[in-house]
Amino acid sequence: MEIAERLRRVEDRIAKAAERAGRDPSEITLVAVSKTVEPERIRQAVGAGVQVLGENRVQEARDKIKELGRIAQWHMIGHLQKNKAKYVAELFDMLHSLDDLPLLDALCKRLEKLGKEAFPTLVEVKLSPEETKHGCDPRELLALAKEASSRPQVKLLGLMTIAPYSEDPEVARPCFRRLRELRDELQDYLGVALPHLSMGMSGDFEVAIEEGSTMVRIGTAIFGERVYGCKLD
Ligand SMILES: *Cc1c(COP(=O)(O)O)cnc(C)c1O
Repeated sequence: MEIAERLRRVEDRIAKAAERAGRDPSEITLVAVSKTVEPERIRQAVGAGVQVLGENRVQEARDKIKELGRIAQWHMIGHLQKNKAKYVAELFDMLHSLDDLPLLDALCKRLEKLGKEAFPTLVEVKLSPEETKHGCDPRELLALAKEASSRPQVKLLGLMTIAPYSEDPEVARPCFRRLRELRDELQDYLGVALPHLSMGMSGDFEVAIEEGSTMVRIGTAIFGERVYGCKLD
């Protein structure tokens, strides 16, 4: 199937899930996750209407951004070592995966050097027990969010999570609901608006939308199964 056709189907499913939940589909941003996808196919997706691209590895994203330029917004959605913070500050439009204080410090330092302020940022929260998942421990979320919201270099806009993988999308629902509750509590406590919830992937985005997602990160359903090379950093 063509990328354009897959994209239309995904957009249609997003709209239907929003309607079921009594929400306006325009509140939901589609982040097309282009990790491992070659530039030509990314160009096709943008030609078919994709406005936001998500990447999870700095090195891979740097090469693509160099080749493709700013054909869309580029969002960093993957775990980040603090020594890569400078590339995020330079190349990306938003970070979904702030998960600790050293990374916040490194990012703010680079942003300040570049003269950038209010860089759109989400805190990734680890709500799934899987060892491989990154993210801030929910018990440390308040401290990190409070600190992030006090820095002029970043603008804290909400939370992100990755639900446990399952064939059954309902398995993800409690995790998405929990993220929304944490966002609501933080919003009250900090007295700032946190409008965004980045949650939902190819296997579970409709459930995420029913639970309040404003950013769905979708790779496979748009680009097909990923083919991994041997280079994993
Ligand atoms: C790969 C990835 C996605 C997209 O996963 P699909 O199942 O292919 O839709 C979303 N979020 C993050 C953080 C990812 O690394």
